Formats: sequence, structure tokens, C-alpha cells
Amino acid sequence: MSPERYQRVRRVLDQRQTDLTVVIENVHKPHNVSAIVRTCDAVGIHRAHAVWDRKYTMRVHTAMGSEQWVRMDSHNTITDALGHVKQAGMQVLVTHLSDTAVDFRDVDYTRPTAILFGQERYGVTDEALALADQDIVIPMAGMVQSLNVSVAAALILYEAQRQRQIAGLYERRQLPESECQSLLFERGYPRLRRICDERGIAYPPIGDEGQITADESWWRDIQLSDASAEPPRKFRPSHI
Ligand code: SAM
Repeated sequence: MSPERYQRVRRVLDQRQTDLTVVIENVHKPHNVSAIVRTCDAVGIHRAHAVWDRKYTMRVHTAMGSEQWVRMDSHNTITDALGHVKQAGMQVLVTHLSDTAVDFRDVDYTRPTAILFGQERYGVTDEALALADQDIVIPMAGMVQSLNVSVAAALILYEAQRQRQIAGLYERRQLPESECQSLLFERGYPRLRRICDERGIAYPPIGDEGQITADESWWRDIQLSDASAEPPRKFRPSHI
């Protein structure tokens, strides 16, 4: 990885918001999932959650390949997904077109927050509504009753981003250094990452110019798996 790319990735990771997330419930059109994840990346969400209908799993996975910078956790049930975010201390806001929902701009997103989005046709399930802390709505004054789910996600996430920026939450790093190191290796060295995953080799440390700073034994393990992997000059035997 070049030093320039390293600096760019570092700047992105420094702004990741670990206490802001989305939960998508059975959103099944790949382009909607992809657009939501892309907005997550744009506002600095590190980890998103999803509950999929079993039959859509493959299509969704195809869509996920393009968005490499947002971790996606899959859950079997909405109870599992919301249990997970609640355990992390997040308020759960559910987007829902009801009379009792509050305007999405009247909510405090500087608190640890998970925002739940529902299926394209049917919206969120009753189960999700029962588990959430608050219904929120984007006011609609036209003939159509609802927005596309990825458009709704973009509007709400950018309101969250606006509030968090004012509160200075993008100015201090939230992501642990160990997670930054993993991401830098995974995305900066995809071929070596594959070898590590296949062979159970630990990820190496990344130096502050984006270089791998592993010791000789790490390179030896990698080379036993892939002769074409090039260790840095100081670790190469003199006959190479
Ligand atoms: N008939 C469905 C309903 O009543 O929920 C419409 C589903 S809507 C097309 C799909 C998802 O987009 C919703 O579950 C919600 O997450 C989001 N959404 C769309 N329009 C919204 C709005 N005006 N306010 C809040 N969320 C909205």
C-alpha cells in the first residue's frame, strides 16, 4: 500500500462512528442494500446489521462485494439483531410510517444509536416495532406514501452525521487500533490476507507508511504458503 493511500485510509478510519449503526430488516433488492451500505460508509458507519430472508441471501451477498469498508453482521432474527445493538447501549430508532412516529429531525443522534429500516414492500415487522425505543418518520406531503428505503436511509443518516459533526464526534477516533490494523491489512494486502485466512496465520502489524512490519518468521510462514510473496529486503536471504 502506498503511503498516500495509507494516509487516506487512516483519515477515514479516524472518523469511523462505532456507536452509530443501521439494522436492515429483510431489505432484499441488492441495489437498495448496496446503496444503504454506501451511505453508511459515507457517513462513517463502521458496522451495519442485517436480517435476511433466507431466499435472498445469495443475491445480497453479490451486492455486498462492492462495499468493502463497512463490516456487515448478519443475524438470524430481528430479536438477535436488536438484542446485539441494545447490549451495546444503543437507542433503537425504527423508521415507520405511523401517526405516532416523531419527525426524524427531532431526534438526538449524538447518543449511541441504531436505526432500523424495513422491507421495500411491507416495511418493518411488528416484532421490530415492539422491540424499538422510538418510531421515526420522514414527513411526506405528496401523493406517494413512502420513499425508497435507500433514500430514506440517506436522509436520516445525513441528519445523524450533521448532528454528530456539530458535536465534534468526528474529531476523536473511536475505532480501536487493533481494528484499524486489521482493516489496513485486509484492504491494503488482499492477496496476503487471503493466505493468512486460509492458513490461520495472524495478520501482521502495519507501519505508519502503510508497510507490513512483521518479523522474519511471519514472512517465512507466508512464503511456505506462497513462494511469490515478497518479503522486504532486510528479510531476504542474500542469494535471492
Ligand atoms: N408500506 C410500507 C410501510 O408502510 O412501511 C412501505 C415501506 S417503505 C417503501 C420501505 C422502508 O423505507 C420503510 O420500512 C422505512 O424503513 C423506509 N421509509 C420509506 N419512507 C419513509 C418515511 N417517509 N419515513 C421513514 N422511513 C421511510
